[in-house]
Amino acid sequence: MNRRRRIYEGKAKVLYEGPEPGTLIQHFKDDATAFNAKKHAIIEGKGALNNRISEFIFVRLGEIGVPTHFIKRLNMREQLIREVEIIPIEVVMRNVAAGSLSTRLGLEEGTPLPRSIIEFYYKSDALNDPMVSEEHITAFGWAAPAELDEIMQLALRVNDFLVGLFLGIGVRLVDFKVEFGRLWENEQMRIVLADEISPDCCRLWDISTADKLDKDRFRRDLGGLLEAYQEIARRLGVLPESRPPKGMGPVLVASNSPNGKPN
Ligand code: UDP
Repeated sequence: MNRRRRIYEGKAKVLYEGPEPGTLIQHFKDDATAFNAKKHAIIEGKGALNNRISEFIFVRLGEIGVPTHFIKRLNMREQLIREVEIIPIEVVMRNVAAGSLSTRLGLEEGTPLPRSIIEFYYKSDALNDPMVSEEHITAFGWAAPAELDEIMQLALRVNDFLVGLFLGIGVRLVDFKVEFGRLWENEQMRIVLADEISPDCCRLWDISTADKLDKDRFRRDLGGLLEAYQEIARRLGVLPESRPPKGMGPVLVASNSPNGKPN
């Protein structure tokens, strides 16, 4: 059925050759994996939700001047992106203790951190994505010092923006993972945000109930993963059903005064 050339297949996404040189199609699968793919399930509908949520976030970030690989959403499961050279580092931003940080440092999950903390992990399934320092990254040439500075500045901006965005929909952004790539334009290279930002790679807790609305539902066998992702999409206003019907004209605002003027 699919005749496009497959460039790369990851755990939750496939990259296909794009319609023009320098572009790719990013396809979101329904696969959920955890613990370096030791745990695996298919959750029907997850890919479409992540596609919408990630589109929304990348567009908003683009609007505040964060360069990204995103061009446009193509359909339910796919988006057109710029081809970049992925820097082999997972950048994790944390605002609240959880997950591996809690385990490593013995911090109770939910403890607010004194300030946002940035961590780096080397992308290697064979090595289980080990945590690395800036020294490792620059010494082994995974990124140049200037590139790493740029990455850290962008990651902090993304974090500040997303903390506010999620606060606005009653969600606490505990932590998240992002990836960056090199994009060449007219002989010039710049660092851009790549991959995806979705509940697959964020910890999102409801502010009033502390319910987990992210992949920890799958990692920790809590159930209700799809419902949680739907809730995030609904609150962001990107569930297809939450869109106003097409062709709806202006709606008269109810007025109590007989002449239609506000009282
Ligand atoms: N994360 C991710 N991919 C990974 C590892 C972590 O998207 O391969 C995200 C994860 O969803 C969380 C944040 O990065 O939002 C921090 O994860 P942590 O280091 O606590 O690891 P975990 O507890 O997920 O093993």
